[in-house]
Amino acid sequence: MGAVYTRVVTRQAPPIGPYVRQPASVVPWDPRTLTVAEAVTALVRDRRPDLVVEHIGSTAVPGLPGKGIVDLLIPTEPADVAAVTALLFDLGFGPQPGDDPFPPSRPLLVGSMEVDGTTFRIHCHVQPRGEEMVRDLAFRDALRADPELTAAYAALKSEIVAGGYHQSYQYTYRKQAWIAAVHRRLGVRRTPIAPPATIGILGGGQLGRMLAQAARSMGYRVAVLDPDPDCPAAAVADHLVLGSYDDVGAALRLADLCAVVTYELEHVAAAVVDALEVHVPVRPGRYPLVSTQDRIAERRFIELAGGSVAPWREVRTTDELRAAADALGLPLRLKAATGGYDGRSQIRIATNGELDGAIERLGRPPGASLLAEVELAFRDELSVVVARGPDGETAAFPVALNVHDAGILVESVAPAPIPPETADRATQIGLDLATAMGLCGTLTAELFWVSDDLIVNELAPRVHNSGHWTLDGAETSQFEQHIRAITGLGLGSPTALAPTAVVNLLGTGPVRDARLTGLGEALADPSVHLHLYDKRRVFERRKMGHLSAIGQDVDAALERARRARAALHWEGET
Ligand code: ADP
Ligand code: MG
Repeated sequence: MGAVYTRVVTRQAPPIGPYVRQPASVVPWDPRTLTVAEAVTALVRDRRPDLVVEHIGSTAVPGLPGKGIVDLLIPTEPADVAAVTALLFDLGFGPQPGDDPFPPSRPLLVGSMEVDGTTFRIHCHVQPRGEEMVRDLAFRDALRADPELTAAYAALKSEIVAGGYHQSYQYTYRKQAWIAAVHRRLGVRRTPIAPPATIGILGGGQLGRMLAQAARSMGYRVAVLDPDPDCPAAAVADHLVLGSYDDVGAALRLADLCAVVTYELEHVAAAVVDALEVHVPVRPGRYPLVSTQDRIAERRFIELAGGSVAPWREVRTTDELRAAADALGLPLRLKAATGGYDGRSQIRIATNGELDGAIERLGRPPGASLLAEVELAFRDELSVVVARGPDGETAAFPVALNVHDAGILVESVAPAPIPPETADRATQIGLDLATAMGLCGTLTAELFWVSDDLIVNELAPRVHNSGHWTLDGAETSQFEQHIRAITGLGLGSPTALAPTAVVNLLGTGPVRDARLTGLGEALADPSVHLHLYDKRRVFERRKMGHLSAIGQDVDAALERARRARAALHWEGET
C-alpha cells in the first residue's frame, strides 16, 4: 500500500488525457494530428525502444477528411500484448468504452492529447502481428502515395452517410468493398483456409449434401448441423451435430470442430450466427442472412442497394390488406415475411372477395408481419448465381431461365436464351447486391423479366436449385464455387461448357418410403445425368433429386431431360 501511495503523490498527471465519447462527425484533415501521433510514439518508445507505433486511419493521410481521431497501431507479439497494454495504461490511456470492445487478445485503448488548445482523441490498437495489420498498413501507404486515390476515398466517404440499420450497413459495406478493391490491386490477400480444415454447414438438406460433396472432393472435412439423423447430408458428412437451426448450444458444438461455418438455408436464427461469430468466421455472413430471411427486410435492402422490386406493402391485419389492395391493385401475392419456401406460405388474391379470410388461409399467427405485393405478368423468370470471395473478388455464372409450377421450381435452362444485354443486366444486379451486402460465398438473385425491366423477386445468400445445372454444365459447379469463396481459395471459372437443362424430380403421392423405378430407360440417353438426394421418404412435391442433360441448344437439352423424367416413377405413385 505504501508504495502505491508514494507513487500517486509523487507522480505528475499522466501525459495522455481522458477520452470523451462524442457523436461522430466528419472534419477536415488537421496537421496537428501528426504532432499527436509523434508525441505518443515518443512516449511509448521512451519506455520500450523496441516497439513501433504506426499511425493509421484517416488522420494518417494528409488531406483526407475523417472523424479526426488519431488511430495508432502497435504491432505486438501475442505474448507481449499484456505488457504493452499495461504500459499504455501507465501513460494515461483507458479501456475502450461501449458494449462490444475488442477482446483482451487485441485490445483498443483510448485517450486524448491537447495541442494548441484543441483536444484530440486517440485510439491505440495493440494488435498481434498478422495479415489484418499488413492490409491496414498497405492501404494507408497506398493512400499516402497517391493523391488521386485519396481524393476518390474522400469522395466516397462524403457520399455515403450513416443513419438507420440498413444505411449504416451500406456505409460499412460500400467502404469495405472499395477498400477490398484497393487491397486486391496492392496484392495483399487473406491466407486461405486450406484442406483438411473442417467446414461447418448449418442445414443438411440436398444443398448441404452437395456442398459437402464438393468440399470433401477438395479434401476438406465436413461437419453438418441438422435435426434429422437421416438428412441428405448425413451420409457425406464427417460429423453430424443433431440440433435445430436455432439451437445455439448445438451450433457452438459444431463451431468447435470447424475453421469456417456456412449455411445452406436462410432460416437460421440470427442469434446462432451471433454466437458462432465469436469463435469462427460465418460466411456468407450475418448481414446477408438477416437481410434475406425476412421478405420485408429483403425488399428494403434491395431498394436501398438500387434494385427494383414489385410494388409492396407490409400488412398485419385484414384492414391493412384491404388498404394495400386499394393502393396496389389486384391480383396480389400475400406472403409470410419469414419461413416460406417452394411456394409455401404464400397465396394469390385475385378478387376483392378473397381479401376476407386471406390472412387466416395463410395460416400465420394473428398480427404476424406479411408482405402484400403486386403480381407481375412477367415474360420469364431468370436467376443468377454470383460468388464473392473474402477479398471482394467476384464471378457470376451465366443466367438461368426458370419455370415454376405453383411456386416450386420444375425446370431450369442455362445459359438463358435471352438477349445479351438482358443477361448482362441480370448479372450486374446480382454482383451489385452481393457487394452491397458484404457477402462472402454465393448469392442467388431470382428475377422477373417484365417487358424491358428486371425486377428482383427473391435473394438467397447461398447456392440454389436454379444453379444445379452447373454440376454438369459449367467449368466450376456452384457448390465448388461456394466452398472456394468461403475458404478464400480463389474463385473458379463460371463459364458454361454446354447448353444445359435441369428437370427437378419431385415427389408424388402420399408419404411413404422412397423407391424410384424406370432408371434404365431414363438413363438410356448417355447425355442425361441423375442426381438423387437420398431422401428416405417421398411425398407430393418433395424435392427428391434432379436430372440434367446437355444439348446443342437449351431446347434440345430440355427435351432430353424431360424424356428421362417421364420414364421415372415413385413406387406406389397414384
Ligand atoms: P419462394 O420462397 O417459395 O421461392 P417466391 O416469392 O420466390 O417464394 O415465389 C415463388 C414463385 O411464385 C415465384 O418464383 C413466381 O413464380 C411466383 N411469384 C411470387 N411472387 C410473384 C409476383 N409478385 N408476381 C408473379 N409471380 C410471383
Ligand atoms: Mg423463390
